[in-house]
Amino acid sequence: MMNRRHLLAAGAALPLAPATARAESHRAAAAPQGLADAQRFEVGEIAVTVLSDGAIRLGPEVLQGIDAQGYATLMERQFRDPETFRAAVNGFLVETGDRRVLVDAGSGGAMGPDLGRLMANLSAAGTAPEDISMLLATHLHPDHVGGAVNDGGAVFPNAELVVHQADRDFWSGTAPDGSESFFALAQSVLAAYGDRLRILTGEEEVIAGIDALPLPGHTPGHTGYLLTSGDASLLIWADIVHVAPVQLARPQVTIGFDVAPDTAAQTRARILDRAVADRLMIAGSHIDFPGMGHIARAEEGFRLIPAPYPYKA
Ligand SMILES: [Zn+2]
Repeated sequence: MMNRRHLLAAGAALPLAPATARAESHRAAAAPQGLADAQRFEVGEIAVTVLSDGAIRLGPEVLQGIDAQGYATLMERQFRDPETFRAAVNGFLVETGDRRVLVDAGSGGAMGPDLGRLMANLSAAGTAPEDISMLLATHLHPDHVGGAVNDGGAVFPNAELVVHQADRDFWSGTAPDGSESFFALAQSVLAAYGDRLRILTGEEEVIAGIDALPLPGHTPGHTGYLLTSGDASLLIWADIVHVAPVQLARPQVTIGFDVAPDTAAQTRARILDRAVADRLMIAGSHIDFPGMGHIARAEEGFRLIPAPYPYKA
C-alpha cells in the first residue's frame, strides 16, 4: 500500500502546472452555452448555487484503512465502478442579502484539465469575479483555492479571503518533502489576498446567516460553513468525505491527503452523528454534483439521501 509520503510525492507531481499551461487550461475549461454544471438551491432566504469544478479519480491506493477488495465491494454495493470512480470537486456560490460569497474557488489551473471548471460555471450562473465580496476557504488545498489565483494574482479583485488561523499558520510553514507544491500554492493564495485576509479562530459568525464551524484533521484549520435562514439550514462540510461510497459506510477510512488522519476520522464520526441527530442538510466538496443531501444511518455506517431536485413552484 502507498504510504502518505509516496502519496504526497505522487500528488506533488500532478498539480501545479506552469503558468502558461495554467492560462491555457482556463480557456479550455469554458463551458458550452447552456451546459453549465451549476445548480441553485434555496436555504430559506439564502440562495446557494453549487458549482462543479470537475471530478478527480480517487482509487483505493489513496485511502488508508481499506484494501482494494474492500473498496471494490463498497463501490459495487452502490452501483459504482471501482475501476473508474471519480470524486466530484464542488464549490458554492452563496447569495445572501446583497452579498455574493464564494465558498471555495475550485482548482483553477492547479490540477490539470479534468478540473478547473468552476470559474466557467460561475460565469454561466451570471456572476463575475468582481461580484464576489468574500471568499470563504474551507482549507488551503489546491482543489479548493487554486482557482483563487492566476499567475500569482488574485482572481477575485474585491474579495476578502476568510481562512482559519490554523490553516494559515500550517501552510505558511516549511513544506515537508513531497508536499512542496501544496505549500507553494497555499502561500501564493495567502500572498495574493494578504492585504484583505480575515482570520477565523473558532466557531464564530462570519456574516449574518453564515457561521464557521472548525472541522479539523483533514487540514489543521479545515472549516465547514453553516448557513441558517429562518428554519432552514445547510452545513457546507467541505472534505468530511472524499470517497463518499467508502467513507460514509466506514468513517474510519482516511485519505493520504489528511494532515492528521486520526483527528480527521474523529471529526468525520462526530459530524456524521450530528448530521443524523439534527437532520441537517449537508453539502460536500467531493460528493457527486450537486453534492447536497441528508445523512441517515445504514446497515453499515451511514448513507447519503440526495437532496430533492429543486423544481420551480
Ligand atoms: Zn478537497
